[in-house]
Amino acid sequence: MDARIDVYKALGLQLGEAHVIRNAGGVARDAVRSILISQRLLGTREVAVIHHTDCGMLTFTAPDLRNIVKSDAKSRPANVKEAIEKAVDSLEIYEFGHLENSVKDDVKFLQDNLLVLDETEVTGWIFDVKTGKVSQVAQGKLEPNLTCILRLFMLHLSRTFVSIPIDADCEQPSERTSPANEVREKHPSFSDLEQELAT
Ligand SMILES: [Zn+2]
Repeated sequence: MDARIDVYKALGLQLGEAHVIRNAGGVARDAVRSILISQRLLGTREVAVIHHTDCGMLTFTAPDLRNIVKSDAKSRPANVKEAIEKAVDSLEIYEFGHLENSVKDDVKFLQDNLLVLDETEVTGWIFDVKTGKVSQVAQGKLEPNLTCILRLFMLHLSRTFVSIPIDADCEQPSERTSPANEVREKHPSFSDLEQELAT
């Protein structure tokens, strides 16, 4: 939601390349409805959860926000005031106190969510508003496994039919393709931009 961030520019995305679901804090629990529609009706299969440094969500608690709303409602008629208090008390705020943990929690929430398709690759990232850099803080679950199966299959093939040097180390997901890496490959200018912003 942060007005300073142009997501398309920051990630080197073109219009039509991704569904960008934005909300306060980039909170996954607040985005399930959109993810559901994105996946089931529009065919997307990968979710990159991106929170950002200097996020306003780190600066308040749910009671703080509820108190502001209740204070604003003080002068309203009693029945309206009561309805507002009830509404804000039942509204989930999803505030968080630790940036990296909030990303990890969101990734786990989506990976475990029954409404999110099993084959979804969910990864977690932090966007640094000062440098423009995006760093990965939560790995996906599926892709390393898929890579592993593919490698083992290739290894099997290579042993059976042809001789191809295969690195079958399936413990290391480091070579896996991340959304950001895909973006970097597709848009070389993104890497340039990252370097530029880092200096
Ligand atoms: Zn924010």
